[in-house]
Amino acid sequence: MKILQVPDGLRRKVLEIVDELGDVLIDCESCFGACDLAIQEAKILGCEKIIHYGHSKILETDIPVEYVELREDYDPIPVLERELNKIKEKRIGLISSLQFLDSLEKAKKFLEEKGKIVKIGKGKLYPGQILGCDISSAKEIENEIEAFLYIGSGKFHPLGVALKTEKPVYILDVEKNEISDLKGIKEKFLKQKYTAIGLAKNAKRIGILVSIKSGQLNLELAKKIKKRLEEKGKRVYILIFNKIKPEKLEGLELDCYINTACPRIAIENRAEFKKPILNPDEGELIA
Ligand code: SF4
Repeated sequence: MKILQVPDGLRRKVLEIVDELGDVLIDCESCFGACDLAIQEAKILGCEKIIHYGHSKILETDIPVEYVELREDYDPIPVLERELNKIKEKRIGLISSLQFLDSLEKAKKFLEEKGKIVKIGKGKLYPGQILGCDISSAKEIENEIEAFLYIGSGKFHPLGVALKTEKPVYILDVEKNEISDLKGIKEKFLKQKYTAIGLAKNAKRIGILVSIKSGQLNLELAKKIKKRLEEKGKRVYILIFNKIKPEKLEGLELDCYINTACPRIAIENRAEFKKPILNPDEGELIA
């Protein structure tokens, strides 16, 4: 018996997938990354294998996992032809999510023909690939380029690069078929971040959020943060979740939270929490 995991975006196709695969169980929980393998479910259900759609391997596991990566055959050239004038910089670093990685070589060739110097970092995963929690392919070429161009959908992945590097980040949005600059969104995010840090500075009771998802579990980091904050006179509690959601914190009289799980929670979902929520590097600034 096998268990199948697909991202929410593919939910409509899941029955078709199962019809092809044969006898598999369908995991109906949301899954946002390969950090969230259904290992416990597979063990409880006696499955010998996990079939995981939409993400590439980031974890070693004691149960076999078959990754089905799902690359899109997107052609970035028409958008680049029309909108390249929005990118004034000459030295460009290309980045993408797994789904659109095959577009990078096409874009590189086109940009070089237009006189740009193009770099794609090797990173820890595939060349040019970034995750919300791993931008190593961007960091590696940061000093060789003047701007990044992200090819993909959504803003979370390129926002991580904009926040953790000093370079401008452009997005070639594969759904809108346009290029935009992430500057305004970065500024908005930084404003929210510094407001949250300012509010959290007076916190007396702090909750450290820990997820038991296989690739998000950071208990040792949580313990270190707890120790450091206790030395500064704070009361600190470690809170355990599978999926972290704001409503699960209701009834706990805490002044702020530090999130040790997926960084997306404290970036994209910050406004959903009633108290300030910070990622660990931001938490360093409160005491
Ligand atoms: S921890 Fe978050 S950003 Fe990292 S792989 Fe998982 S879902 Fe993606």
